[in-house]
This record gives sequence, C-alpha cells and structure tokens, in this order.
Amino acid sequence: MTDIIQLLPDHVANQIAAGEVVQRPASVVKELLENAIDAEATEIKLIIKDAGKTLVQVIDNGKGMSITDARLSFERHTTSKIKTAEDLFQINTKGFRGEALASIAAIAHVELKTKRPEDELGTAIEIEGSKVKSQDVFVTPTGTSVAVKNLFFNIPARRNFLKSDTVELRHITDEFHRVALAHPNIAFVFYHNGSELFHLPQENYRQRVVHIFGSKTNEKLVPVEEDTEVLKISGFVGKPEYSKKTRSEQFFFVNQRFIKSPYLNHAISAAFEGLLKTGYNPSYFLNLTVNPETIDINIHPTKTEIKFDDEHTLYAILRSAVKHSLGQFNIAPVLDFEHQSSLNTPYSYKDKVGKAPTIEVDRSFNPFLDDAHKKASGNTHFKKSPATHWESLYVGLESKDNSLENDFSNVTFENDSKTEAIFSDDSVETNKTTFQLQQKYIVSTLKSGMLIVDQNRAHQRVLYENFLKHVTIKEATSQQLLFPLQLHFAPNESKIIKDLKTDLEHTGFVLSEFSDQAITITGVPVGVPENEVSSIFEQLISDVENDVPDANFSATDLLAKSMAKSLAIKNGKILNHTEQEHLVNSLFACKEPNMSPTNQPTFITMSVNDIEKKFI
Ligand code: ADP
Ligand code: MG
Repeated sequence: MTDIIQLLPDHVANQIAAGEVVQRPASVVKELLENAIDAEATEIKLIIKDAGKTLVQVIDNGKGMSITDARLSFERHTTSKIKTAEDLFQINTKGFRGEALASIAAIAHVELKTKRPEDELGTAIEIEGSKVKSQDVFVTPTGTSVAVKNLFFNIPARRNFLKSDTVELRHITDEFHRVALAHPNIAFVFYHNGSELFHLPQENYRQRVVHIFGSKTNEKLVPVEEDTEVLKISGFVGKPEYSKKTRSEQFFFVNQRFIKSPYLNHAISAAFEGLLKTGYNPSYFLNLTVNPETIDINIHPTKTEIKFDDEHTLYAILRSAVKHSLGQFNIAPVLDFEHQSSLNTPYSYKDKVGKAPTIEVDRSFNPFLDDAHKKASGNTHFKKSPATHWESLYVGLESKDNSLENDFSNVTFENDSKTEAIFSDDSVETNKTTFQLQQKYIVSTLKSGMLIVDQNRAHQRVLYENFLKHVTIKEATSQQLLFPLQLHFAPNESKIIKDLKTDLEHTGFVLSEFSDQAITITGVPVGVPENEVSSIFEQLISDVENDVPDANFSATDLLAKSMAKSLAIKNGKILNHTEQEHLVNSLFACKEPNMSPTNQPTFITMSVNDIEKKFI
C-alpha cells in the first residue's frame, strides 16, 4: 500500500492560513492599522477604493523596517514582537503571530514601502500571491506604506463571496472605529474613493468619541472612572435616555484592544437595570486596563475574544463603577422619593389631543331579551370603547373599503370536505364573532372551524404590503410636520439613511437637509405618529446593520419590513371588536396573508375535524 499523506505545497498552505486571518477587506484594514500602531506611529492614513476590493492602503509615520526586515516580514511566523514563549504572557502589542503580512501577500498584490528614521533611503517590495516580483531601494518618507490591491485575485470563490460595497465598507468602518477609539493619541484620516470620511486629530478620549459619533454625543456621555488593584476603568457610558436599539455604540477595550464580551456587557446592563426601555441598549465606550498576565488573548484567531483569570471580580467592579457614575450624575432615580412615575404621561400619549369623556348610550339595548340572544349579538355593548383614531394604525389603507370584507369571505381554507356541511347553517356562519385571546391572538370562526390570527404578525404583513405598494407605485401621501424634526446620527448612520433616501421618500417621508450628523424631516407618511419617527429610523438603521444584506438585497424590501415592524400593533395591545375585524379582513386582503414579512405564520386554522379528534 502506498503512503497517501503529503506535505502541502507552500502556496496552498499559505492560502489556507490566509483564510483564517483574512475574511474580507475589513480584516486587512484591521491588520494593517494594528501594525502601524505597533510601529509607534502618531499619524495613520487609511485609503480605501471600492470598499477595499480594489485597494486597502495604510500609510504610517512609525519606525519603519530595515531592508532585511522588510523582506522577512512577509514570511510566515516572522514577528519582531515576541522572542520567547514567556513573552506570550506579557503581550503589549496588537500583533504577535507574525501571520498577517504573509497571509495577505498570499492572496493579493502587495506593495510595501518602508524607511527607518536612521536610514537615508528606504525599501520597496512588490509581492503577488507570495511571489516577490521586485525589490528596490527607494526614496520614501520615514514610516511604512502597505498597499493591498485586488484582494482574493487568486481565489475567485472568496472574491465572489464578498458582499456589496455598502456592506464591506460598513465592516471597514467598524474596524476603523474600534482602532481609532482605542488610540485617541494617534491622528487618523480615512479616505474612501477619494472622499474623506474621517479626519481625527490627536485628541482626548471624549473628543475622539464625539468626533466619531457626532457632536450630539457630547451631552450624552457620563464619565466612568475606577482604579483598583486588579482593574482600571476609564471612559464613558451613555445617559439612559440616549440608549439605542442597535448595539452599535458598545465598546470594550482591554489594554487598548477591542474585545467582545457578553459577560461584561451583562455587567453594564445590570448597572442600567430599570433605566432603559425594553429593547434598548446602553451605549458605552470603556477602556479596561488589566495586568497582561491575567488575560489570554490567544484563544481566538481574530482576537476579539479574550479570557480573563478572574471574570467575576471584573464583573462586580464594572457594574458598581457604572452604577456609581449613573448615580453621581443624577441619572438613576435613587433618592427621588417625590417623583412617582405612574403620574407621567406615557411617551406615546405626549402628542395626543385630549378627549373629553363621553357617555355612550346603547339605544338598541333591551334588558328583556334573553341571554342567548344577547350573546349572539356580541356581548360588547357595555365595554365598547370609543374608536379613537385606531384607523391611523392602518397607514394609508383604504379603511372604508368594505369590499375587503367580501374578499375575506371568499378566502377558502384547506378543509375536510366531510365536515364542511356541519356549519352550513347560515345563522352561525355569518355571525362572524371575533375575540382577543391573551391580548395577542384574534380568534374567529370559519365555516369549517376556527381561525387564530397573531395580531402583531398579521399587522406587519398588512403594513408591509402597503408600504411596498407605495414604494413601487411611488404615490404615497405625506403629512407636513408643523415643526421640522431634527434627528441626530453618527456619520455612518446618516449614510445608511442617505442611501435609502429615495425609498423613504416614496413611503411618504420628506427629508431635507442632510449633514454628516443630522437629518431634518419635514414630512412623514400619513398616519405615522411624529413621536414614532425617531424609533422608526433607529429600527431601520439597526435592521440594515444587522441584516448584513447580500447581493440580492433590496433596500425597498428591507425598508418596508423595518417600517412594518416598527408600526405594527404590538402584542399586549387590547383591540376592540371593530379593530379585530378590520385587522382580520385587511390580512386576508393581502397578496400573501399566510406569512409575516419575516416568514413566520400569521394565522393557524383548526378544522372541526381537528377539534373533534381532541374529544376522542
Ligand atoms: P505581527 O504583527 O504579528 O508581528 P505581521 O505579519 O503583521 O505580524 O508583521 C510582521 C512584522 O513586520 C512585524 O512583527 C513588524 O516587525 C513588521 N511590520 C509590519 N508592519 C509594519 C509597519 N507598519 N511598520 C513597521 N514594521 C512593520
Ligand atoms: Mg500584525
């Protein structure tokens, strides 16, 4: 039998290893920025073309490399950052594996130019797919420039796997944010396709946060400082009222390295307990300093997770430090005995017009009718709540259109033909009673059995189709706001909204004045309450960010889904009889009533047959 195990050729091994380090252009950005920081640069320039697919270049004014080092830097496991195994426990640099440049050079065209301060002339090297194409002595400023072109040129499958420019640029921006936040003492500039996205001078931490996330951020930052033997904390948390639906403003840095830690995130949430609306996340920008010997950053290839020796202590210190800050800045209602929150006007009522109580007399009420009759005519007379503006829930729907009712009765459900005859008695069938179960489901009778509709999902479907219709036929009506509404965003968030501008306008929003940090809204779709607008936009940004849409992503679809999600009737909302019927009718007037926009069932049916089986 012949041996079958072979040593992989170097270029194959390099490509495989590269797959671990380089997933997308943003990975290259991260590695190059970190190398520049390790080289003690004070100014770093990031230049990107086509979301990194054509070019990622980082230019620094750091300590540069000698000719030999420049050549060696592209070999696997060559690093200047650790020499002995013990060094692994004292890591103060970003890199230490000596893998990044070798990996990048295996799957791209790389041009390196570098010069040390003490040298007269520098070195230029060109490498393509791990092969050195040229090496020259070169006149170049002190520092290093690494240009990475045509990423994945030799792995078409990986190249095809890249997402749209918008998505890849978002990943790059995320990496840039992380590095720039961890190093406010370094100046950064970031260009994409020739336009400057960020220009950050050397500054203090507060200025850096504000520069990245927009000037409005300044007033929302609450400082957190703590210095203990095991842990030093410095940075900011956002005031509770500025919490966001997205997690885009949550940053932990441990020894100036961005990390993700669900456990420590929980410590912050615990400190905010009772201060946030459900579904909202606190913002934080926190730098933790610990002894490098007490952490292990080696457990994850892309190094955003680390292991602490004593997580429990860190958790406790972090939670109490944040709690203390919130209390000190009078944010937590700790000592506020006089304030009774039940007396506050609920948020959603803020802009509603007050309505004088009215007494409704049911003129058709006849106390002498027998009980059975009363039930059949719907036992809702006494509780009938005035139908105040509930129609506004059905944005733009032709709510007076009774033909919908007819559509509903035409809908046929799969049923067992044998049982069909049972309810053929008209008096039962036409008396379409609906009722609400657990403030969540609407139950109704069908010819063949029972219908149970999920109110939230059903309404999402109705709104979704409605928005889609408006966007496609471009004829939404909007209502002018008396006072224009200004919403503040971080530059990358503004960009998301800007990209969706046309679609938003087709749904009825009127957007004027765009800046990097704010958007002015002068009109909203008819029926959309003004106080919902900011949360609609928050939700939209969060959806775009989390959806990481792919090539066949349609902005229109995402927008319609997101708006439907924001505006749909929530579970827990009590609906009166008319509202229940209207919702059910509107659902079955939809093109695809069976599924919510996110593909969850909107209703189930139970045939009499099913019910009968239960009684056996
Ligand atoms: P690591 O950062 O893990 O050491 P890299 O492959 O990223 O591995 O880099 C290899 C070596 O190249 C580094 O250890 C460093 O000595 C050198 N190097 C890389 N980038 C720069 C830079 N911008 N300035 C100076 N030296 C650099
Ligand atoms: Mg490195």
